[in-house]
Amino acid sequence: MALFTEEIKDSVGEIERMVQSRGDAALMALTEKFDGVKLESLKVSEEAMDEAFVNVSTDLLIALEKAKENIEKYHRKQLRESFFTREENGGMLGQMITPLKRVGLYVPGGTAAYPSSVLMNGIPAALAGVKEIVLISPPQQDGKIHPGVLVAAKLIGITEVYTLGGAQGIFAMTYGTESIPKVDKIVGPGNVYVTLAKKMVYGQVDIDMIAGPSEILIIADKDQNPAFIAADLLSQAEHDPLASAILITPSKALGEAVLKELEQQQQNLQRKDITQTALENQGKIIITETLEEAFHLSNRFAPEHLELLVEDPMSHLPKVENAGCVFLGPYSPEPLGDYYAGTNHTLPTSGSAKYFSPLSVDDFIKNTSLVYYTKEGLQRARKDIELLADYEGLEAHKKAVSLRFEEDTEDRKI
Ligand code: NAD
Repeated sequence: MALFTEEIKDSVGEIERMVQSRGDAALMALTEKFDGVKLESLKVSEEAMDEAFVNVSTDLLIALEKAKENIEKYHRKQLRESFFTREENGGMLGQMITPLKRVGLYVPGGTAAYPSSVLMNGIPAALAGVKEIVLISPPQQDGKIHPGVLVAAKLIGITEVYTLGGAQGIFAMTYGTESIPKVDKIVGPGNVYVTLAKKMVYGQVDIDMIAGPSEILIIADKDQNPAFIAADLLSQAEHDPLASAILITPSKALGEAVLKELEQQQQNLQRKDITQTALENQGKIIITETLEEAFHLSNRFAPEHLELLVEDPMSHLPKVENAGCVFLGPYSPEPLGDYYAGTNHTLPTSGSAKYFSPLSVDDFIKNTSLVYYTKEGLQRARKDIELLADYEGLEAHKKAVSLRFEEDTEDRKI
């Protein structure tokens, strides 16, 4: 879980007060302070959105288009339908699905670009039917949002984009300012300031989750390739010095071979400092007596990403109780899920896969229950309802039913 020190809490508290009292002026001042950029306007113009296409390669555009297609195809299967059922007593019961009205996407930025975040958060919202999707992302040094982010936004039909990052962006979308209308839900990852701000505003708006550092847990049997395993452990370790990368195997020889591979492969990585710290602090190779024991430990950990590098992985799937996303077999490395396969990359961390699910279309809809009874139906149910209301001592509840059957009620119509 993100580490919220007193200093960070004070700083984010002050940012909240500024945004609430000074609106846009505070957003401009905070962007200048934290991003080193003096903005003329927060809203990204249509021309700037189009211009971004010139600044990305055709190959990147094609890759984003393909990823978009895969993500849409997968998430379309999650769509739910409203329903009505006819009851035996002549009444009808139902459930009406309505999308959230206005959703805010936070896309981290500044030093790096995350177009994949745009697709993973924006596509389920759009498929759910959210009409107003707002995107905010901090400026780079040149004052603009990274072109890859703008291109991904445009590809999925998001046109309301603001150059704004950090905690101030979260507070702006929660309380609204002169330029930024408030939203109903905020989704998307960010640094410790963004995460704390999201935690603080939960309840005034909905949020997706409080994401902790990334995790990968690999269960492998003796016949797996140690080079694959080391590469996959490093792919998560490079996210963050707090990331966890764990191998559980009944094969001591495999564990030793992976250790050697890790040392070798790490030498050539640009983010070696990060992978090294992450592996030193949270990296583990655990040797178990049996494969069953490996599954037992994994279920206790409830990893965000679980790779099953075992013979006939499908047959082992029923043993998995808790995991955000399961990658089956040697040719399903975790980055496939980060970018491309179609499943969502916003997954429960810090053991919360025991009770939370990946981001999905469900995060952007509401259910409304529907009840219709006829007079005859209510008459038949009347005795039971009155009895239950009596038992709970709620007289007005009982009366709301019984009154309808009193002789003079019809006369009270105006
Ligand atoms: P960010 O957009 O989260 O934060 C940048 C903003 O932080 C700046 O615009 C600034 O306003 C604010 N800020 C910087 N220093 C500050 C300070 N001292 N006080 C107050 N505010 C300050 O971008 P980032 O910092 O590059 O972090 C991105 C994070 O998102 C990383 O932790 C990364 O791992 C995570 N991420 C997660 C996923 C995922 O799917 N889980 C995907 C992409 C990125």
